[in-house]
Amino acid sequence: MKRDILVLFGPPGIGKGTVGKELSEKLGRPLISAGDLLRFEVKSGSSLGKKAAAFMAGGALVPDEIVFEALRGRIAQSDAAEGFLLDGFPRNLEQAGMFERVLESGDSYLVLNLTGSDEVLVERLSKRRICGSCGAIYHLANMPPRTEGVCDKCGGALVQRNDDRPDVIAHRLDVFRKATAPLVEHYRAAGKLRTVKADGSLGETMAAIAGVLQW
Ligand code: AMP
Repeated sequence: MKRDILVLFGPPGIGKGTVGKELSEKLGRPLISAGDLLRFEVKSGSSLGKKAAAFMAGGALVPDEIVFEALRGRIAQSDAAEGFLLDGFPRNLEQAGMFERVLESGDSYLVLNLTGSDEVLVERLSKRRICGSCGAIYHLANMPPRTEGVCDKCGGALVQRNDDRPDVIAHRLDVFRKATAPLVEHYRAAGKLRTVKADGSLGETMAAIAGVLQW
């Protein structure tokens, strides 16, 4: 089996989910989001979700084994057989090792590193709303829904994530700097890193991505 895997990398709020959905449609590959999978587990009340919930609410990383448990089954599904986009994993060096162990001979991957200033991240996170039913992402100013509080795609109610509140946002950015950002050097050294500024409009970011990825 030969899979093309694109890892979406960057701080919370940089737009991995939004860019990921665009790329997923363009490339015809599923977007697999660690955070979405975990939120689904929490919402469903599964034992995995129960283990993850408190870490997530506080903006801490969920233990590696729990995240991997949520991801493993999803990656093995048939729609991911030719490749997939990965959002929110790996997030530390241990997870980078787990990711490398998932790779099979013939697989290839790149890490798309999305960057932007802290001011932009905080502004995006604090004004982000998501659909409680389908997970679609909105921004109160830049990407508002057609009807206030209602998802354009499925009619579900829009909610603020409980980790998109100011004190938790600050902690998530700190966790990113300490645990996740060191992966940049890891992937740069491996020749896998493609870096793009992602603090402008979605159109500008997509154009910049087109410049560093060949499709
Ligand atoms: P996200 O949707 O990517 O912002 O993730 C939301 C939350 O889920 C994070 O703040 C973590 O608590 C948890 N999470 C998501 N992905 C991971 C991961 N790879 N490792 C540990 N925790 C994660």
